[in-house]
Amino acid sequence: MSAGKLRIESGADLLACRQFTAKGPLRWHVTCCKTPIGNTLSSAFFPTIALARCAVGMPEDAVGPVIGQFFRRDATERVGKVGLGRGWPPILAKFGKIVIAARMNGEHRKNPYMGNAGRPVARVQRDY
Ligand SMILES: [Zn+2]
Repeated sequence: MSAGKLRIESGADLLACRQFTAKGPLRWHVTCCKTPIGNTLSSAFFPTIALARCAVGMPEDAVGPVIGQFFRRDATERVGKVGLGRGWPPILAKFGKIVIAARMNGEHRKNPYMGNAGRPVARVQRDY
C-alpha cells in the first residue's frame, strides 16, 4: 500500500529499521517489543510499504485486502495463498499503480517512514 496512507498516532520515536543487504528493503519494527511493522524500499522514490499484517493484527477494513505474498516457501509454517496469487507480474503491476498514484497525488510526501530529505526517519541498522 502507499505508505502515505498510514498515520503513526503514537510511538513514532520507537520506530527502527534494519537492512540485511546493501540494496535490500528496510524492515521496520518498534524497539519496545520488536513487533514487525513492514518493509519499505530504501529509496523514498517508491513510497510504498508491505505490511506484516499478520504480525500487527491490522483489520482488513483499515488497510485493504491483501494484494499478494512474497517468499511463502521460506515461511517457517505453511502459509495459505491469498491475494493475486499468480506470481510476481500482477503484484508488480499493482505496485507500479500505487507508486504512480502516490507520486501524482502528492501522497509520497506523507510517507511516515521517510523524512523530508527522503531518508529513513530512524537510523538504519545495517546487518551486512
Ligand atoms: Zn511494543
